[in-house]
Amino acid sequence: MSKMKPCPFCGSKNYRQMIHDEAYAYFRCMDCNSTSPLGGDLDAALDIWNRRPIENKLDAENKRLKTRIEKLHKIAEENTIGYEAIIESLRSENEKLKEKKGIK
Ligand SMILES: [Zn+2]
Repeated sequence: MSKMKPCPFCGSKNYRQMIHDEAYAYFRCMDCNSTSPLGGDLDAALDIWNRRPIENKLDAENKRLKTRIEKLHKIAEENTIGYEAIIESLRSENEKLKEKKGIK
C-alpha cells in the first residue's frame, strides 16, 4: 500500500478509512470533513485519495524548471569564469606593456 497524502483541501493528516456497504472504502478528513469518492477496495480508495493530477503536473513542471535554472546557472558561471580569465590576461598584457615602455 502506497503512502497516503494529506487532505487535498486542508492539508490535514487526520483522516479515517470509512467502509460503505462492506464493499467500498473511502477516506474522510476529520478536520474539514471532506471525503474521497467511493473507491472499491482499500487500495482503490487509497489511489483515488492520492490522485492529484494538477499537483503531479505542477511537480513535474517545477522539476523541469529547476533543472533549467541549474543549467543556466552553470552556463552563467562558466561564462563569468571565462570573462574573468580574459580580463586577467588583458591586465597582465597591459602591465607588461607598461613595464616595457617604462610607464609604470
Ligand atoms: Zn481536510
